[in-house]
Amino acid sequence: MRVDVLTIFPDYFAPLSLSLIGKARTTGLLDVGVHDLREWTHDVHRTVDDTPYGGGPGMVMRPEPWGAAFDTLLPVPPEDLDVAPVLIVPTPAGERFSQALAADLAAEQRLIFACGRYEGIDQRVLEDAATRMRVREVSLGDYVLFGGEVAVLVMLEAVVRLLPGVIGNADSLTEESHANGLLEAPLYTKPAVWRGREVPEVLRSGDHGKIAKWRRAQSLLRTAAQRPDMLASAAPETLDKHDVAT
Ligand code: SAM
Repeated sequence: MRVDVLTIFPDYFAPLSLSLIGKARTTGLLDVGVHDLREWTHDVHRTVDDTPYGGGPGMVMRPEPWGAAFDTLLPVPPEDLDVAPVLIVPTPAGERFSQALAADLAAEQRLIFACGRYEGIDQRVLEDAATRMRVREVSLGDYVLFGGEVAVLVMLEAVVRLLPGVIGNADSLTEESHANGLLEAPLYTKPAVWRGREVPEVLRSGDHGKIAKWRRAQSLLRTAAQRPDMLASAAPETLDKHDVAT
């Protein structure tokens, strides 16, 4: 997968050299380019923002550097928009990021992220970009950050760990929270007793059938307690007839 990130703070992306994302880059599973948007400015102050039309607080990112940056990253517009890169624009006004969206994005060949700052990006940038890319405005959640950089790091981490070969044991990806519409059951490791607290006996029984049943019940209980909204909107196949008994 090829990923390009446009930002006025390239230093934010130093962590992309660490841990499993760094490894995915060195093994060639992931190719990342981080670009300073100010490279596409032409004035002495390298200006990327201006006052909003219509008035109001703060500054808005001017369209010209973005347009020029996209022209450089995508010099030949794709013939077929269906296979064009996906441009992800983080914004609190976008669709909510989710594991399902991460999985969709993990199937793409190329992603481009546009990190907004100030009050955001001139809307015409997105309209123009939509003529040659599939644009998705994406929100991390119902709160407002200073800028898109942290949001992009979060989204990238969720996407990259789904790329085939990035995580050694692929079962980790199917047996985790949000993989099947439920939250994961609580986890335990050694020692068996710690500060007087015992690991549930069933997990030490070696009975895989019992363990699976216990985990399933815990997963349902935890989801009901922490995220009743997930249970309420679960597809019928998420729950099975055995769940009634547990
Ligand atoms: N004026 C915008 C609004 O009210 O919707 C908020 C702008 S915010 C201060 C600046 C930038 O931070 C946004 O352009 C976006 O890139 C990023 N950002 C802030 N909150 C975000 C969120 N919840 N999800 C994704 N990106 C966010």
